[in-house]
Amino acid sequence: MSKIIASAGIRGAHRIVEQAHKKFDEALDKFGGNHEVAFPNTGYYLPVIYGILGYPVKKIDDIGWVLNRCDALLPPLVKENHYLPYLGPALDAGMATFFAEECIEAIRYIEDPDYYQPGEEPSEERLWLGAADDVILRKRGVEFVDGTAPGFAAILGAAPDIETAKKISIQLQERNLYVFMSSHSTDGKTFSEQLKEADVQIGWPTRLVPFGYDVSATVFAAGFATRAALSFGGIEPGDFRKILIYNKDRIFAFALTFGQVTDEWYANGLGAVNYGFPVIADTPIPQILPTGVCTYEHVVSDIPHEEMVEKAAEVRGLKVTIDKVPIPLTYGPAFEGERVRKGDVFLEMGGGRTLAVEYVTSVEMDQLKDGNIEVVGPDIKDIKEGDKLPLAIRVEVAGRKMQADFEPILERQIHHLVNYAQGLMHIGQRDITWIRVSKSAVEKGFTLADIGKILHAKLHGDFGTIFDKLQVKLYTKEEDVQEHLKIARGLYRQRDERIEGMTDEDVDLFYSCTLCQSFAPNHVCVVTPERTGLCGAYSWLDCRASNEINPTGPNQPIEKGEIIDPVLGQWTGVNEFVFKASRGNIEKYSAYSILNEPMTSCGCFECIAAVAPMCNGVMTVDRDFNGMTPAGMKFTTLAGTVGGGLITPGFVGHSKLYISSKKFLKAEGGLKRLVWMPKHLKEEIRERFEKRAAEEGIPDLLDRIADETVGTTEEEIYPFLEEKKHPALTMDPIM
Ligand code: SF4
Ligand code: ZN
Repeated sequence: MSKIIASAGIRGAHRIVEQAHKKFDEALDKFGGNHEVAFPNTGYYLPVIYGILGYPVKKIDDIGWVLNRCDALLPPLVKENHYLPYLGPALDAGMATFFAEECIEAIRYIEDPDYYQPGEEPSEERLWLGAADDVILRKRGVEFVDGTAPGFAAILGAAPDIETAKKISIQLQERNLYVFMSSHSTDGKTFSEQLKEADVQIGWPTRLVPFGYDVSATVFAAGFATRAALSFGGIEPGDFRKILIYNKDRIFAFALTFGQVTDEWYANGLGAVNYGFPVIADTPIPQILPTGVCTYEHVVSDIPHEEMVEKAAEVRGLKVTIDKVPIPLTYGPAFEGERVRKGDVFLEMGGGRTLAVEYVTSVEMDQLKDGNIEVVGPDIKDIKEGDKLPLAIRVEVAGRKMQADFEPILERQIHHLVNYAQGLMHIGQRDITWIRVSKSAVEKGFTLADIGKILHAKLHGDFGTIFDKLQVKLYTKEEDVQEHLKIARGLYRQRDERIEGMTDEDVDLFYSCTLCQSFAPNHVCVVTPERTGLCGAYSWLDCRASNEINPTGPNQPIEKGEIIDPVLGQWTGVNEFVFKASRGNIEKYSAYSILNEPMTSCGCFECIAAVAPMCNGVMTVDRDFNGMTPAGMKFTTLAGTVGGGLITPGFVGHSKLYISSKKFLKAEGGLKRLVWMPKHLKEEIRERFEKRAAEEGIPDLLDRIADETVGTTEEEIYPFLEEKKHPALTMDPIM
């Protein structure tokens, strides 16, 4: 351990803890010890403190306790030339730094509630996002578990110029890393502002996260890492060894510092080293090279800007294959969330402005040439900025193992595969596709054939086992698009009918999905023809196809066995499977009930239903509705209460499609129990819902269901239900 770093870091830690004491004293005076303290929308309190110490900070007084711990942890100041024989004291100083910084930031949330812009993206006025809430953690954390994101880079300071900032951020995005930005440089500049100035889209969707202006905002990165270990690693709060080891082994993170490294930065660097995260600096600071806590070196300095990212990857032992597709655009999952704004559009296709359609279809082996890409009709060179074109994308596949059931699975990839290209935006699917091509993509040489090249390269890479050859044809003439629209709609209809006509009684096999066990270890979705997986992404046919593609994968066939109860939806085979797949934690569950042993809920349900006892019914709310619901909780709180792979009678996660299934909460009386749901959800599912309601003999049921415009408590909606003669009010008591 370099003595200079140790002494500077310990000095910095002392200063940060001192600052926290000052903030604490002021807050105590101003708000009193009982005033509530929290980061927004989280069940993890102040996460580093909660994870490492097992101590939930709930009020200002609790901060006093934490600061006492910091004082005890802080090693005495070391003289400049004093030799520290081992890392211990310096690492303690690093931990104390993080605890103190969390206290500082928590007090900021009380003092200046508008300082941070909560949510995914900064607004025009407010750049800093602050601590990630649990919804963001769940959504993004999964990517750390499933490998879509190997880790993150914490950036402190500001690049020497905007161009360098932009280059480095792209290099990090290409490696699929998240970029957590905090701390201004000594001259007050920040990396986040540089990216913003360069017109780079920042926020969680593009993985470039502006946490905060001050150095203390660095702790939000440590908090994210700590929560990842707690929620995805299933580690108990307070088990600090496991948390640090989880991060060292599982999260490929490192810090990049730009410009003069202050004592406070050193202190944060020491904190990072605890987690096994090395620090790479662009300035000549003393290095800590021996391996130990980190995979390789702890601090590597004086690295030229062009080499920083590569060096960091090497030091952290990060092996990433950059997605190479033969197109002139940068490509990777980090660009999936990037939008092409109106002013940046060169070409637009679909989205209601022109006709657009995309589909995958099988052809005979001798009818296609693998890798063949054709563009029929005007391309980029034939149009001018701001033009619109109709578009049909026809992907033809052939192979001995190819089946019609695989087509929709391949088709569903088009959305994210096209989105991964920087400068392209893809929304929707099937015949509601909408593609925007940005000016910068065109400047880099993009042509429509590149969409075909992307699909060819990526589909081969990911699904090469199920087909042998693939070619893509793109049509941009109105009459051609019309023709392909007709063909595609025919295919869609066939597919929909295949599943719509099927009932749970028709089949002997259901399918499991255990994809979500990575973060909800007991969770099993049992997918039946009439009940899709609760995330909405897996239908019975999808699971069957996926099982054929990958027989040892997360979708396994389940023999139904004997029927135990047709109303609840319980079968011997299903219960046996669930018991095994949950490692003995779940004995049995019902497919069609919300009250009687409902299915487990992981965390990615499209909707969550809850019993509304006063209205003798059930309400449901989807992920996009962030207001209050009659259950007395918002979606996020409901999700936090019910998710995690537990059975919670009275609550159940489900897909949107399931609402209009004949088996929807059949045990409680089905569709007629539904008394409240968000207005936009009503509109989204109206067509299918009305068809089902008509079968139930109440064609106008949807309009008798309350929504947020009627009220958001049971008391508020009850009179409306009475007035509309909602059927739930006269049904048997639900509880
Ligand atoms: Fe699979 Fe269910 Fe998770 Fe969807 S929610 S991915 S169906 S386990
Ligand atoms: Zn899930």
